[in-house]
Amino acid sequence: MIKADVVNHTNLNHISFKGEPALKIAKVEPFPLYYRIPEPYGDANGIKTYRSSYMIRITTADGVTGWGECTDWLPTLHKGFQDQIIPDLIGNSALNRLQIVQTIQKRHARAASAVSMALTEIFAKTCGISICDLWGGAFRDVVPVYASFQSYHENPGWMQISLQNVEQAVSAGFRMIKVKVGGKSIQDDQQHIVKIQDAIGHSTGLILDANQSYDVAATLEWHSLLSGWSNVMWFEEPMPMQYAEHYTELKRHFTVPLAGGENLKTAAEFAPYLKGHCLDFVTPDPAHMTGIEKYRELLSMARNLNTRVTPHTYDGALSRLYAIFAQACLPPWSKMGSDSIEPVEWDVMDNPFTNVVPLQPANGAVTIPGGPGLGLAIDEELLTHYRWDGSSY
Ligand code: MG
Repeated sequence: MIKADVVNHTNLNHISFKGEPALKIAKVEPFPLYYRIPEPYGDANGIKTYRSSYMIRITTADGVTGWGECTDWLPTLHKGFQDQIIPDLIGNSALNRLQIVQTIQKRHARAASAVSMALTEIFAKTCGISICDLWGGAFRDVVPVYASFQSYHENPGWMQISLQNVEQAVSAGFRMIKVKVGGKSIQDDQQHIVKIQDAIGHSTGLILDANQSYDVAATLEWHSLLSGWSNVMWFEEPMPMQYAEHYTELKRHFTVPLAGGENLKTAAEFAPYLKGHCLDFVTPDPAHMTGIEKYRELLSMARNLNTRVTPHTYDGALSRLYAIFAQACLPPWSKMGSDSIEPVEWDVMDNPFTNVVPLQPANGAVTIPGGPGLGLAIDEELLTHYRWDGSSY
């Protein structure tokens, strides 16, 4: 419990102490979102026909609000929130963030990330400061982002569509792009990548993502092509992530930087990769781990073990904003250059939920919004427009 004399000397003016818990949670509103993609796109795991997101807004008795976001199968998430999480939250204190998140993550691991974000924002707003200030202050106001594509389409002209999309993003100012491989034959995928290189003139940063499609031998088929190109930033998840020892084996022969980890949930799952240094970049996702605190702990662990961190943030605009805040608050990864910070993933495919957070990159980078909490207002009209109607999908 915060002592009253401490409170009096801070901005926590509206914390009440009349027998009620401070920052008492009064309301939790869920916003399940669904969008059917008119022209489906995909990666090595298949073609996506829809996008979904699950936002929540928590309001305290004093009217302080915080937004959170998570991702999973909507019927499961919605039932979990309505039957258990919301009733447990109501009446609790937003100051008990760590305890609350720890309890939720045991039952609904992904839901914990949404609650941790919302309670973090409530605390920052109560103090009248930004999320970055709450976390100790930003090292930088601008964070680089890369354009992330789903390269495959049902249309047999998928390669041409992909090339057009890439060219569009580069002319819009993106300086780094990520494209997919692993969903077609190695020969077709290599033809696609060579065409992209010709289109971007080998000057835009290039990332390849195989979504765990290959084994060591198949990955090595890419080596002579990729190792000759200086703009290749990393090869992401060429192989299944449950076998860290396969990455150790690959690293002996493959000189292109390797990245992975978007579906790993805990520090323990990242540990073999960090300790063995068989990845050059880890790619944690704030919406796939159990809360924003655990996510930030992982960033810190990676920094301490000298492994770069480039977040996976394909599943939601708010979790992406949190990843951008966290990246702003990370020390540079290298002493080389004035500010060496790894980029954040930016979804450039057809996805209306990206605009729920009104923030757009300029020249391949995002400027951190100022002001208390998130520093910007969530677009509630979009939340209403794309609200999932409860039908099966
Ligand atoms: Mg990936």
